[in-house]
Amino acid sequence: MEGCVFCKIIAGELPSAKVWDDPDVMAILDINPIAAGHLLVMPKGHYETLCDVPASVAGRLIEVVQEVAGALLKAVAAEGFNVIMNNGRCANQLVPHAHFHIVPRSSGDGIRFGWVQGKYQRGEMEALCERIKKNLQR
Ligand SMILES: [Zn+2]
Repeated sequence: MEGCVFCKIIAGELPSAKVWDDPDVMAILDINPIAAGHLLVMPKGHYETLCDVPASVAGRLIEVVQEVAGALLKAVAAEGFNVIMNNGRCANQLVPHAHFHIVPRSSGDGIRFGWVQGKYQRGEMEALCERIKKNLQR
């Protein structure tokens, strides 16, 4: 897609540090890392969010996430990692080309994601569960 920074990286029009490059999927180092080794894993086709990615490509994306996360843990001697995917501008998706973030983690690394746990009112969770199930397409 014209103007998409990730499509330009995939096309080789912009430089990147590639750790994975196959016909469907590319993984690169994020140039503004939360932690050293922070990776981005993306489909080579331009799809805006996870819901736009064909299931076969989404499966390949997860396989590559597994593969590169394992290598990343060893490379930076991390104890764990977060896999994050922002879908939509309201969810902090800065580049409208679907991508997973892999952030290596270790005890005491000080990384915080601002997660605040809420609570449901009585019956709210059950009603929401039914609404979601009614909207499933398969
Ligand atoms: Zn793109």
